[in-house]
Amino acid sequence: MAPELDPSTVVVHAGRPERVPNAPVGDSPVFSSTYVAGGDRGYGRFGNDAWTAFEETLGALEGGRALTFASGMAAAAAVCDLVPVGGRVVAPIHAYSGVLALLDQQAATGRLSVTRVDVANTEAVAAAVLGADMLWVESPTNPAMEVADLPAIIAAARATAGGTWVATSTTGQVLAGVASLPTRGPIVVVDNTFATPLLQQPLGMGADIVMHSATKFIAGHSDVVLGAVVTADDELWAALELRRRSLGAIPGPMETWLALRGLRTLALRLERSQSTAAFLAQRLLEHPRVSRVRYPGLPDDAGHARAAAQMSGFGAILSFEVGGDAEYAQRICESTKLWLHATSLGGVESLLERRRRWPIEVPTIPEDLIRLSVGIEHPADLWADLEQAFTSAT
Ligand code: PLP
Repeated sequence: MAPELDPSTVVVHAGRPERVPNAPVGDSPVFSSTYVAGGDRGYGRFGNDAWTAFEETLGALEGGRALTFASGMAAAAAVCDLVPVGGRVVAPIHAYSGVLALLDQQAATGRLSVTRVDVANTEAVAAAVLGADMLWVESPTNPAMEVADLPAIIAAARATAGGTWVATSTTGQVLAGVASLPTRGPIVVVDNTFATPLLQQPLGMGADIVMHSATKFIAGHSDVVLGAVVTADDELWAALELRRRSLGAIPGPMETWLALRGLRTLALRLERSQSTAAFLAQRLLEHPRVSRVRYPGLPDDAGHARAAAQMSGFGAILSFEVGGDAEYAQRICESTKLWLHATSLGGVESLLERRRRWPIEVPTIPEDLIRLSVGIEHPADLWADLEQAFTSAT
């Protein structure tokens, strides 16, 4: 694809079959567990045409080579497996609870150790990352909506390969520190699920690996569980591909094809969802029962300046709190008629949930925090339903 094309065009055209007479316009899933000998494909656990089309498209958007996995967690597990035995991972205090639980499980067996850090605190990340083997970042974080200064913390991680580091944060602050360990530096991983490659491209900011729960915005219709990693580093790509084939966490061709079909409309879906998210954030801010709204698109949000500098939009997820009243928050979730009370996010239908209903959610996430995943319905209908839920839950 021509590099000058806008991502909203790339998402439609990348990864399609070659334009030759009689070629299909779109890809189809190939249902075969093995292939006739003599080529490089070999066996269904090593490759599939539906994977290739999906991976070419996602890779073109992120600026690297993609690998698809059976789920976001399968992708995350393959990435964590790159940490040497006894190695140390720096991970966010707030992030998707499943990834944090995976790291905790591995720490409990002695496989690795974990340092948890507030990813919005650049100095704290820079200090924690010295001597680490992996820096795992989410931005914005799930569900606290904190924004990490990605260029600054990636520069700090890079500089741990030896010597002094100086980085300019996205908000213009000059940061400096001294790295003590002469290592290659940690592998920097960014979970880009919330932002999507249309709003944020971490590889272009120097990250080594981007990870996705493609279950969310990428597939976009709440009908598929799928994951992916993307890297521009050939060694890392080969190491991850080896893990996919040996751990066997492969997606089915049908799921991958559905995800690609969904991905084609990501630009349009996001445009609608994020403009509605901005509208709802403002309405919630003005609602008397709401004590806090977390959305980087709000000018007063702590992450606003950073998000404006490193993202091309503020996304379609937001969280809000209702004065510490967890029972009220729970009743709101159970009182909506249009919004679906369900976990997950990124689909065309709007979802809401109180995150602390899950026992594994991080205890510093407020009990009354409700996360909204804004779909593509009419904004006025979504707000009217939330308003009636506030009233009927009282
Ligand atoms: N990362 C984030 C930010 C998520 O929200 C999720 C799922 O909710 C995952 C990773 C895990 O992905 P999956 O559910 O596809 O395994």
